[in-house]
Amino acid sequence: MSITKLLILVICGFVVWKLFAGDKRYKETKEKESKENLVASGEMVKDPVCGAYVSKNSDIRVRQGDVVLNFCSYECREKYLKQLEEQTGAKPQA
Ligand SMILES: [Zn+2]
Repeated sequence: MSITKLLILVICGFVVWKLFAGDKRYKETKEKESKENLVASGEMVKDPVCGAYVSKNSDIRVRQGDVVLNFCSYECREKYLKQLEEQTGAKPQA
């Protein structure tokens, strides 16, 4: 095999690798965008404790006046309620 052919092979490999790497990044960006769209449209809300995105229809929630907070798990909900109790001394209705 000549050095030129080897060089071409290396370049081809690099180009293919670049394409795949770019595609992966593109997909990640798209996924992030669609998640952000869901958040913007109000279908997904952020768990204030761990930062995970949860469905607005989730049953694990806390009502604070007009605001309803959704949580990914009862664990996070408990943590939030505990924090709130420590901060305000008041317990919001669950
Ligand atoms: Zn959580």
